[in-house]
Amino acid sequence: MQLVSDKILKTQASSSWIRRMFEAGIEMKKQYGADNVYDFSLGSPDLRPPATVIETLRSMADAVDVPAGLGYMPNAGYPAAREALAKWASHEQGVPIPAGNIVITVGAAGGLNCLFKATLEPGDEVVCPAPYFVEYGSYCGNFGGLLKAVPSAPGTFKLNLDGIEAAITDRTRILLINSPNNPAGVVYTRGELDALAEILRRKNQSRTRPIILVSDEPYRFLAFDGKVVPSILPCYEYSVVCSSFSKNLGLAGERVGYLAVNPAMGDDEAAQLTAGLILTNRTIGYVNAPCIGQKLIIGAVERMDETLAAQSAQLAVYEERRRVMASILDEAGIEYQMPAGTFYFFPKAPHGMDDVAFVRKLAAERILAVPGSGFGYAGYFRIAVCVGKDIIERSRGGFVAAAK
Ligand code: PLP
Repeated sequence: MQLVSDKILKTQASSSWIRRMFEAGIEMKKQYGADNVYDFSLGSPDLRPPATVIETLRSMADAVDVPAGLGYMPNAGYPAAREALAKWASHEQGVPIPAGNIVITVGAAGGLNCLFKATLEPGDEVVCPAPYFVEYGSYCGNFGGLLKAVPSAPGTFKLNLDGIEAAITDRTRILLINSPNNPAGVVYTRGELDALAEILRRKNQSRTRPIILVSDEPYRFLAFDGKVVPSILPCYEYSVVCSSFSKNLGLAGERVGYLAVNPAMGDDEAAQLTAGLILTNRTIGYVNAPCIGQKLIIGAVERMDETLAAQSAQLAVYEERRRVMASILDEAGIEYQMPAGTFYFFPKAPHGMDDVAFVRKLAAERILAVPGSGFGYAGYFRIAVCVGKDIIERSRGGFVAAAK
């Protein structure tokens, strides 16, 4: 008897490769021992949270031991947390963002779901460059939206601006970008963002509903070689930043993120959109982001300099892992573009091989990676360097053998 809906059955079938991959990983670790499996499949930070977060957590027990100390709060989050996040987001984006324009969400994933629910009519389209984060399609589909992917330039993953312009129709509600990009590791330039904004403004002239530019930025701090990720807020008024602390501070399980609505869209528009986001945060059933996580963020922002120093230390670890993985891919003769940000590599499957077939070859060497097809970009595969440098180094022989 079928208990789940047809839609869920279909999604399960189309994403069964993810389940199979994880199951294969677990099996392999049981068989060979965890240290002998090179698991590059998960984008889950393995580093310790910053000391500012841990110290806040240690000091929290007494502070919450009061009536309703862990109770409900306003749906947008604690006012003090919105203030703290406005400070953090203004620092990151390089433009002032008022606390009233911040909605605290259950991670970036929760933020995107609130945003889609608040803005999409059934049949509306969300245009997005490929490759893209595997869950985007489901998030749009949750609210009757359709994800329309536009392949970025092969190898460099620069935005295909002509393709994006051609993909925009009367049904386009949102243009969704993610920079630094999962899985490509590319950081879009200020020039690309300005050109994108230009396209949207041109398209808006003949529309009653402006297209909303959404920048999903959970990897913003992970930009290498001193690169600063350009902000979309100064480029385009109808824009929203979605971010979280999952990768930025390594707090993926604590589920705290935020949406920052661009004040430049106008006071009435920003107030309407923010109110919509607060409402959807409630009606989807999130109600509010976790209260412990919000308090951790307040603590981290109160000691901003120390938190930023901890972030830099984490960045240095990822930078070193990136160096080692690049040297392995070079030795194996596998083509790749050096990621400008994130902890991912998105190399080309060698010899024009099918990406799924190559990922199987890697698995035979006990190396776990994810086929590019899952990110809407076949012929490539993703490696996440969220494991220690020694494990990365020990995978060298396997990469060389698989690529032969
Ligand atoms: N957006 C992108 C591009 C991601 O890679 C992820 C997680 O991997 C998310 C959103 C969701 O992040 P969070 O854990 O903050 O919900």
